[in-house]
Amino acid sequence: MSDTDGKKPLGLGGNRPGQVKQSFSHGRTKNVVVETKRKRVVVPKPGAGAGGDKPRPSVTPGNAARAVASSSKRPAGISDAEMERRLKALAAAKAREADEAAARAAEEKAREEERERRRAEAEAKEREEREREEALKAKAEEEARKAEEAKLRAQKKEEVRKPAAKDAPVDAAAAQAAASRAETKGVPNRTARNDRGRDNRPDDRDSRGKTDREGRRSGKLSVTAALAGEGGRQRSLAAMKRKQERAKQKALGGSSRAEKQSREVQLPETIVVQELANRMAERAADVVKSLMKMGMMVNMNQPIDADTAELVIEEFGHKTVRVSDADVEQVIDTVEDKDEDLKSRPPIITIMGHVDHGKTSLLDAIRKANVVSGEAGGITQHIGAYQVTTESGAVLSFLDTPGHAAFTSMRARGANVTDIVVLVVAADDAVMPQTIEAINHAKAADVPMIVAINKIDKPDADPQKVRTDLLQHEVIVEQLSGEVQDVEVSAHTGQGLDELLEAIALQAEILELRANPDRAAQGAVIEAKLDVGRGPVATVLVQNGTLKRGDIFVVGEQWGKVRALIDDKGDRVDEAGPSVPVEVLGLNGTPEAGDVLNVVDTEAQAREIAEYRSEAAKDKRAAAGAAVTLDQMLAQAKANENLAELPVVVKADVQGSAEAIVQALEKVGNDEVRVRVLHYGVGAITESDIGLAEASRAPVIGFNVRANAPARNSANQKGVEIRYYSIIYDLVDDIKAAASGLLSAEVRETFIGYAEIKEVFKITGVGKVAGCLVTEGIARRSAGVRLLRDNVVIHEGTLKTLKRHKDEVKEVQSGQECGMAFENYDDIRQGDVIEIFEREEVERTL
Ligand code: GDP
Repeated sequence: MSDTDGKKPLGLGGNRPGQVKQSFSHGRTKNVVVETKRKRVVVPKPGAGAGGDKPRPSVTPGNAARAVASSSKRPAGISDAEMERRLKALAAAKAREADEAAARAAEEKAREEERERRRAEAEAKEREEREREEALKAKAEEEARKAEEAKLRAQKKEEVRKPAAKDAPVDAAAAQAAASRAETKGVPNRTARNDRGRDNRPDDRDSRGKTDREGRRSGKLSVTAALAGEGGRQRSLAAMKRKQERAKQKALGGSSRAEKQSREVQLPETIVVQELANRMAERAADVVKSLMKMGMMVNMNQPIDADTAELVIEEFGHKTVRVSDADVEQVIDTVEDKDEDLKSRPPIITIMGHVDHGKTSLLDAIRKANVVSGEAGGITQHIGAYQVTTESGAVLSFLDTPGHAAFTSMRARGANVTDIVVLVVAADDAVMPQTIEAINHAKAADVPMIVAINKIDKPDADPQKVRTDLLQHEVIVEQLSGEVQDVEVSAHTGQGLDELLEAIALQAEILELRANPDRAAQGAVIEAKLDVGRGPVATVLVQNGTLKRGDIFVVGEQWGKVRALIDDKGDRVDEAGPSVPVEVLGLNGTPEAGDVLNVVDTEAQAREIAEYRSEAAKDKRAAAGAAVTLDQMLAQAKANENLAELPVVVKADVQGSAEAIVQALEKVGNDEVRVRVLHYGVGAITESDIGLAEASRAPVIGFNVRANAPARNSANQKGVEIRYYSIIYDLVDDIKAAASGLLSAEVRETFIGYAEIKEVFKITGVGKVAGCLVTEGIARRSAGVRLLRDNVVIHEGTLKTLKRHKDEVKEVQSGQECGMAFENYDDIRQGDVIEIFEREEVERTL
């Protein structure tokens, strides 16, 4: 025994700065940093309460000896009466406050005491004296214990066995703390205590208390166990607290065991520690502690992820119910319509085509023809969409925002409003770049097309050329035995307009467009504005259900209650069914085109959803920039079997390279992923390309071309990735690598600056020198340079000279003028742009 005792303090000291693994009775372990501070802080308190015992800073053999020596003297000076008085005071204080800190301290003290006692035990020369003191101590202790017992019994009833068992030894130990100053012999002491236990508690409670005590004692026989005891002490504080609380509650309510309530904790994707604690009805500090045990150093105001939170919830014995933040949206009626509820609805048509081919004229012509035939002289109201009725009685809804931007931006926002695209091609012109774009947009959206060959009234109209031109773009019209309807029209003369409308009606019939008018409305915003007199106004195209006055709705990040509905003729209406465009008044803010409107039951729901969306949008905006990258797309493709496609938009300097790239890309792919070229073309990357790329979450590939400024901005905003290449092999290689998921380190270019050529000088002996203004970044002599004309790369090479005020310099900063000449290249012109780039090897993240 003395051996063990001798080692323990040494071991403690040796282990102090390190980490020690603790084992708990529940079979759990944890690592703790061993501190001596705790001991120092706690010991004086009960000591003072018990009559001014000297604090014992740390346990070392030297200290122990001293402590033993002092305790062996002290009892001589303490009378029984004094001892009793002290014990009573102690017991009274204890009873009055039920102070946990004191309890803990007392327990600590008791442990210290026991340790001390055992050390003393080892001291043979003390034995005699100890035996003498024993009787005294035993008596004192018994009295203390009796006092405690009486109190505890009064306080706690029969079921409070456990707390009693734990409290009792603590109190007894506290009492013993005073008494044992006089004695140091542990064994007889223990015996005495046990005997008393037997005397006073013949029931099983005693045996439990005894086991507790013995468990604790045996836990101190080794260093680890001693340390475990220390950790255990901490735990027992919390345990004691809970037990005391439970006991109090039981005493009050007298109910049976108030087991800890296991709660169902709703857990969103992330949760702030404090909120997690609230939901579990636990103390935030305990949650923080539990997190720290897991190695997470967080404070209560920090958010943690759901997986971590779930562990914590389990740790506290609650149940996790995972919820998504988006659950607030669940109130939106998403029930599938039953077949019998579905009724035929008008088609929604978008007119697309190259600029000046007559989109606006055609829309106006259709509308005017209809207005005239419908209600003579009726005032037309431009609300972004209108409805017409064909001669055969079919109703058609036209979006009167022509152009691709509207179409793609709507699609990008998840509103696939269009059912049919009317592709306008001027008969006196031919298939033009935007015609091709429109074709690709329609294909990407999987929307059927009808070709309107316009300006047929013109003498040089050649509709046949249009038809054959379209063949090249895989649009085979009916006249050429294809499936795409084609109609010759003139927006000016009105020729063919009826045929066009009938063709649309026929296409609509084939599509079998249906909706359920008898449900809460869902629609898409076509246009929205802030009207001075009327407040925020949105034109909504109802897609399903019927929108009524008084309906409460959420639309994008806004919400509202329908105050008034105004149709395309400017009339107030009470409701709008499927495919009907109406102006909606009563919004709390201006939504965006493409936002979806949903009718909900209550204002609270509408507000909650709107708030959630606005938060989510904020997060999304923050995360933009890395939105659409090839590898993310790949991940998506793999996660979603339907998306096993890698869409790309390709722009190149010449038709030949564009075609070569498309051919090469179409060969790329494996069982999992296929490259799909959404659109390819010649020339600079434009906003329309970015729009298309965004809608399909595709990157844009520029081969020897650059994005123009608006496209660059738009790409940055929308997080569309633009990748530039000048070697087809590199391009195909990258896409191949992305498709197979193998991306190695690559040489990546960084554009370090742009300079614009203001003037070109011819200097004899040197050749042509460009007088430039550095417009962005810096120009560096050692860097690579490219000459761009209309955003197309026409030369790539190095600089022969970089001059500033006749001096050869290494760098020129943005905003400064300089002279530049290319090595072995002379074809420079005013207005050309010089791109300055550097190459570096980077880990590929794509
Ligand atoms: P958008 O840019 O596609 O909307 O084309 P517009 O509708 O603005 O028309 C461009 C030009 O073509 C205008 O000057 C129109 O007057 C003219 N235009 C449109 N349709 C016809 C047509 O059917 N016949 C003739 N001769 N000119 C037309």
